[in-house]
Amino acid sequence: MDCIFCKILSGEIPSKKVYEDETVCAFYDVDPQAPVHVLIIPKEHIPSAAAITPENSAVVAHIFEVIAKLSKELGLTEGFRVVNNCGDIAGQTVKHLHFHLMGGREFTWPAG
Ligand code: 5GP
Ligand code: ZN
Repeated sequence: MDCIFCKILSGEIPSKKVYEDETVCAFYDVDPQAPVHVLIIPKEHIPSAAAITPENSAVVAHIFEVIAKLSKELGLTEGFRVVNNCGDIAGQTVKHLHFHLMGGREFTWPAG
């Protein structure tokens, strides 16, 4: 499958990993939009948030446990932003479910 994140999981594309277990992986974004910018992905190829079902949703809960853990380890004690872009209209460029964990600066709301 021609998926950049599946290739990162297989090691075909190098990445700077910060966390990995049986079901999820977290690595630094190659084009950071904040001083800390990590992507957390399921190892299963789920194309987007629109493809989450009762059968595969447990990994999403686990991803948020990992986000809470990483936010502490990466020093984001003041807060952080978690983003999921779903679909072209929302700016999803990689069609493998991922959550952006960003911190180390202030964020405005609503996001553009
Ligand atoms: P999206 O736009 O789909 O929400 O987010 C995709 C993210 O993946 C972008 O922030 C982009 O910088 C990041 N990205 C794209 N290709 C690579 C890559 O090869 N390695 C890493 N570490 N990040 C990537
Ligand atoms: Zn994939």
